[in-house]
Amino acid sequence: MVQQAQGALAGRVAVITGASSGIGEATAKALAARGARVALLARRKERLDALGDAIRKGGGQSDAWQVDVTDRSAVERVASEVIERHGRVDIVVNNAGVMLPNPIEARRVEQWQQQIDLNITGLMNVIGAFTSALVQAGSGPGPADLVNISSIAAKNIFPAFAVYSGTKAFVTHLSIHLRAELGSKGVRVTSIEPGIVGTELQSHVDFHGARDWLEGSKSQMEWLAPEDVAEAIAFTVSLPKRVNLQQVTIMPTGQPS
Ligand code: NDP
Repeated sequence: MVQQAQGALAGRVAVITGASSGIGEATAKALAARGARVALLARRKERLDALGDAIRKGGGQSDAWQVDVTDRSAVERVASEVIERHGRVDIVVNNAGVMLPNPIEARRVEQWQQQIDLNITGLMNVIGAFTSALVQAGSGPGPADLVNISSIAAKNIFPAFAVYSGTKAFVTHLSIHLRAELGSKGVRVTSIEPGIVGTELQSHVDFHGARDWLEGSKSQMEWLAPEDVAEAIAFTVSLPKRVNLQQVTIMPTGQPS
């Protein structure tokens, strides 16, 4: 059960992509617990429905929208419906992503494309569909937030992670530019850059070198939990309107880089 606190986010509407697992699911719970109405987006509807039930049982407000964010017209359709139902969108957590490390010489072109389609094109589809609603929210007395989930991979160097890292470098750099463009309109833009977080993300990795490295790291450090990242996001969007955390790097204490 998710307990709702009458809190800092009461009256705000938050859209969270990739809400069916991991960081997105934990963020939905954290924002709902602070009083936000949360719109949950992902492809696995049954997972979204179960999460929505848990949030509502705890006194929160939530609804589920099945969508593949790589499909631009589907995202635009869902955005119109969310805005029509709630009348506004104050927070977008652009979180859906996939990590498929492999050596470049393996030429796993379908994996390159999958990461580019979701981590870049999907992220842009969401920005395109919700920015005007955020600008409208930002023109009022309260803040508006675009939170893009990047990674430490945007800057740090990991062999076999080149394409994933490239997509996350795009997310970080885009976010800095969008902040400069949207800040004057009352919209804060943040890129969240976590180290290793234990989620379903690692389960899609099929390159044994990366799998072994990830598995081996567990004996050297305690990975972050999705709730740790969710708390950082909830803190970021709960700050006074004048404060914009531009980049938040959040590491497992034992992860050196
Ligand atoms: P998960 O695999 O648990 O979550 C990924 C989410 O994205 C799922 O809810 C999935 O839902 C959704 N998703 C995948 N494809 C699509 C699609 N085409 N359309 C809509 N939703 C989609 O991983 P995490 O929670 O770890 O990942 C969240 C973000 O955090 C990602 O951007 C990732 O790159 C980033 N990150 C993660 C780190 C980690 O160590 N875990 C570290 C740094 C950054 P569904 O399948 O139901 O559509």
